[in-house]
Amino acid sequence: MAAKRDYYEVLGVSKSATQEEIKKAYRTLAKKYHPDNKETGDAEKFKEATEAFSVLNDEQKRKTYDQFGQAAFDQTSGGANPFSGTGFDGFNFGGDFGDLNDILRNMFGGGFSGSRGSRRNNGPIKGDDTFISIKISFMDAINGTTVNIPLTYDKQCDSCNGTGAKNGNSYETCHTCHGQGRILQQQRTIFGIIQQETTCPTCKGSGRIIKETCSKCNGKGYIRTKESIDVKIPAGINSGQNIRVAGKGDRGINGGQNGDLYIEVNVAPHQSFERKGNDIYLTIPIDFVDVCLGTTIVVPTVYGDTEVKIPAGCQPNQVIRLKDKGVKDLRGNGYGEQYLKLNVKTPTNLTSKQKELLEQFKASSKESWIDKFKKNFKK
Ligand SMILES: [Zn+2]
Ligand SMILES: [Zn+2]
Repeated sequence: MAAKRDYYEVLGVSKSATQEEIKKAYRTLAKKYHPDNKETGDAEKFKEATEAFSVLNDEQKRKTYDQFGQAAFDQTSGGANPFSGTGFDGFNFGGDFGDLNDILRNMFGGGFSGSRGSRRNNGPIKGDDTFISIKISFMDAINGTTVNIPLTYDKQCDSCNGTGAKNGNSYETCHTCHGQGRILQQQRTIFGIIQQETTCPTCKGSGRIIKETCSKCNGKGYIRTKESIDVKIPAGINSGQNIRVAGKGDRGINGGQNGDLYIEVNVAPHQSFERKGNDIYLTIPIDFVDVCLGTTIVVPTVYGDTEVKIPAGCQPNQVIRLKDKGVKDLRGNGYGEQYLKLNVKTPTNLTSKQKELLEQFKASSKESWIDKFKKNFKK
């Protein structure tokens, strides 16, 4: 499969574009490339622009795209990892595309028929996505963990496949709308005859009349379900990132699948480690004699203690890099670093013996730093 173009590039907007700018850009492109447009219509380009818009127009999806890029939308398998089951496998128009429909309706005076052929109003519609947030410890974010989350949601009834009819087939086509779910009403006005499409009052839009209801769900098509799910938190996750669990969101309509559940992960701070991206910063106290003479010390990293050589003549503001001791990169690009900041400690209560030794040290030094500084200082 050819690499997909960047969504911002597809719409010709900048990464910081406002929602209004994104909408405007899409409107222009959709008009140009819509297959109904005989001169400039281009189904592929229309589909590409629509896909870009459906992601960038959705605040949550845009955030995910900005964080993880295309990778977040290319996986096809379900399950609880941040890149899976994002619903864009094969590009599904079945979600909540209120804005999209509005734009196209305004443009073409009709509903929206996606690239999979016309989606009838009584077709299955995917449920809305839902959002929760959880808090995990600093170390769990570094090493990855599994969090058990209790959920209550409407699960599609498996006895009737969400239809509400016994065995999923004990229904007949609605006579009023002939299964369309919507009816056309004509109204005579001073402007002429106006046709208006409304939801069929007989079947309430489903296009079906149930003959015998499913006994498991009492004809509702879904069952309020309590379950605990184990959500795998990948090593390296950072505060504010989302994990998507496919199919655990709000229930769909007319047998449509459930929306997805987004779990925002908040990471608690650590007492000593500070995280910036994939790098870890740690400030350690060290004796001034040790930085003068050099030494080997044992310092904590997020993966346990490690020996670090402090070279002789280290300066108080020096930072020592511990390669690959940072956080594992979520996208598989190796590890970050740990940076050690030296907080050089000078003694405050010298014994008379120590004082004497330091006086000797001073006497043996050729020139003090302040003398050197003054000599080179230009007024
Ligand atoms: Zn009907
Ligand atoms: Zn049922």
